[in-house]
Amino acid sequence: MRARRIQTLQRTVQRLIAQSAPKTTPQEFNMPETLACPKCGSDKVCVTAEQLFMANTGAHYCHSVKTQDCDSKSQCLACYWSGERKDLVVKNEPTKHRSRKG
Ligand SMILES: [Zn+2]
Repeated sequence: MRARRIQTLQRTVQRLIAQSAPKTTPQEFNMPETLACPKCGSDKVCVTAEQLFMANTGAHYCHSVKTQDCDSKSQCLACYWSGERKDLVVKNEPTKHRSRKG
């Protein structure tokens, strides 16, 4: 009897969650900012991931730089500027959720 009531409540909660979920396309969700070259303004910029391995054993050495790290090496494919990710400039503001009308 009690288990049945809990199942009903769970279904109700799931239905309410589904109803309240915003009907948005991926473009309407917060999109990341666009980074650009500080020299020429191009958004054709790359960042580098690094991993170190021991030369003799091939064992992983505990050092890595991920592409999202501010000190990851960066370069512009348009003008061949090179620097670090933190030097890139923000070309646009991240998109905001559109407010739903009605
Ligand atoms: Zn550039």
